[in-house]
Amino acid sequence: RKGSVIVTGASSGLGLAAAKSLAETGKWHVIMACRDFLKTERAAKAAGMAKENYSIMHLDLSSLDSVKQFVDNFRQSGMPLDVLVCNAAIYRPTAREPTYSAEGFELSVGTNHLGHFLLSRLLLEDLNKSDYPSKRLIIVGSITGNTNTLAGNVPPKANLGDLRGLAGGLNGLNSSAMIDGGDFDGAKAYKDSKVCNMLIMQEFHRRFHEETGITFASLYPGCIASTGLFREHIPLFRTLFPPFQKFVTKGYVSEDDAGKRLAQVVSDPSLTKSGVYWSWNKASASFENQLSQEASDPKKAKKVWEISEKLVGLA
Ligand code: NDP
Repeated sequence: RKGSVIVTGASSGLGLAAAKSLAETGKWHVIMACRDFLKTERAAKAAGMAKENYSIMHLDLSSLDSVKQFVDNFRQSGMPLDVLVCNAAIYRPTAREPTYSAEGFELSVGTNHLGHFLLSRLLLEDLNKSDYPSKRLIIVGSITGNTNTLAGNVPPKANLGDLRGLAGGLNGLNSSAMIDGGDFDGAKAYKDSKVCNMLIMQEFHRRFHEETGITFASLYPGCIASTGLFREHIPLFRTLFPPFQKFVTKGYVSEDDAGKRLAQVVSDPSLTKSGVYWSWNKASASFENQLSQEASDPKKAKKVWEISEKLVGLA
């Protein structure tokens, strides 16, 4: 049978390119888990995806109720789950004030981290039931949350501190909207959420890999300077960023190529190692990359896991 893969945020950018790449092989049915049904349908059509290779199901990661509803709908569809890709994200670098998710969490961490945390915790059971030979849970990371890299050292740097804001619920009322308890900074909130993504992937690996055989992995697909992720940035930045990445840092990767990299992490028989953060070099070969100290700290990962469980109502 075909493999069955859920990709969150498959309506644009990396998620769409990966969905297309997987669908084209004819070996995968892609469940595009998106908040905007029409946009996704149009995007799938424009990408030339054949109808039998995908389904679209509604998921708004900024609402925990929507996450639970998605899981129910998915189960009712009777489709198996072989691979889950947590790809969707928002980035609000120019926001001066925090905005909040349905449950009142700062929106970047609420969407990118907490929404995906609940989703993957609930769907672990479904992955576990699958009889597919290589079951995987992939969480898209980023270099920007990784302070042992040049890009990760551009201020504001990611820093989760002692997690006091997260523990307080990130609600901007009786706690800070930022994980470390500091003043709101939209770019930092995104980077912090990506550190959480990478920590949670490793915590999944430690807790569940041996018992379930599921591969837990993260990746940095390269700088895809053309995606919608930068839609809220100032116009000058949006004009200069793609050529800067192309010619100066040379970290630029097209949406198509980045999508192929993500598709590789989903399906390549040689990328089954668990607990790994994949990157690519210039010759486009994949390699296991090192994470920064904070993004690979097992004590912090455990704390983020436990606090997040409380926030999403699992503990
Ligand atoms: P895009 O903005 O193009 O795609 C983001 C996707 O997430 C869209 O499909 C968007 O949906 C979706 N999304 C946003 N909020 C929600 C929500 N509340 N519920 C459901 N879906 C939502 O950005 P990219 O393709 O660049 O980003 C994809 C991933 O790649 C992210 O995890 C990002 O951190 C990562 N990444 C990107 C890099 C880059 O250079 N671009 C570099 C490294 C990592 P909608 O279409 O409805 O807005």
